[in-house]
Amino acid sequence: MACTPKISSKKNQGPSQCTTSVAQVPGIAWNCLPSADDIFGDDPNTVYVRMNVSSENKKGFDMISLQTVVEIKFSNVDKMPWLSWDTPAWECKTGSKLVDVKGSVCSDCYACGGRYIFGVVKNANEARFEQLADLESWKTAFINQLGNKYKNMRNKNNAYFRWHSSGDVQSVEHLKAINEIALALPDVKFWLPTKEIGMVKEYLESDVFADNLCVRISMFMVNQIPSKAMGLPTSTVIESENDFVPEHGNICHATTENSDHKCGDCRNCWDKSKSNVAYLKH
Ligand code: SF4
Repeated sequence: MACTPKISSKKNQGPSQCTTSVAQVPGIAWNCLPSADDIFGDDPNTVYVRMNVSSENKKGFDMISLQTVVEIKFSNVDKMPWLSWDTPAWECKTGSKLVDVKGSVCSDCYACGGRYIFGVVKNANEARFEQLADLESWKTAFINQLGNKYKNMRNKNNAYFRWHSSGDVQSVEHLKAINEIALALPDVKFWLPTKEIGMVKEYLESDVFADNLCVRISMFMVNQIPSKAMGLPTSTVIESENDFVPEHGNICHATTENSDHKCGDCRNCWDKSKSNVAYLKH
């Protein structure tokens, strides 16, 4: 009788997590779940399972390798201190509506053109987006793989992670998973810019954000005075330095003319005490 293997990524932990289906192993009829003694391997991405198999040509035991985790592909944003993780801008629930609103910060969206809509970057962002269909597996893989990146970092002072240099939160459950990733990796600082005010409000009705997760609400319109209604830090886009008013707080130096467009030592976006960060429109 065929069955879906439920396996652990570590030897001797016993079957625990459903990670593949019989359909993914052509020609093999799975006869039973593997016991802990039949699971081998130290690589968290692949385990080897000794299975009692039967096929047309083969009977008895065989070693089969199975991919056990979702592969997380991080992106590097040139100006940022560390890594990011992106999805396609056209999947933004609020942003994809704002694109058509004149004067909105999304009407000139950089992630709706150029390299974002072709080839490697487009394909990678779409593949990342698809991983969100199984939030639990995505979250587990994210914690493991970002945790490994952190462990292998030379300068741990640079562990500043930016969510969504392209894209945005998709659901309250997605937001919860992002918060759980921050809780699981307390030495990493996370910055999440978002326009999904409704999701954030619903989340905050029953939960709080981790200390190391700075959720910054992005204002919708260019030159908008930041709203403090949510009690969270905000970000704004201003047309020029002439449009700066004290409520805008700080102008991002990486967006000013003649800058090198890099964060350098600035970490304002991750700093919850910076009530607003203003980016110059470019
Ligand atoms: S405000 Fe500072 S941390 Fe944020 S993007 Fe600009 S330079 Fe980087």
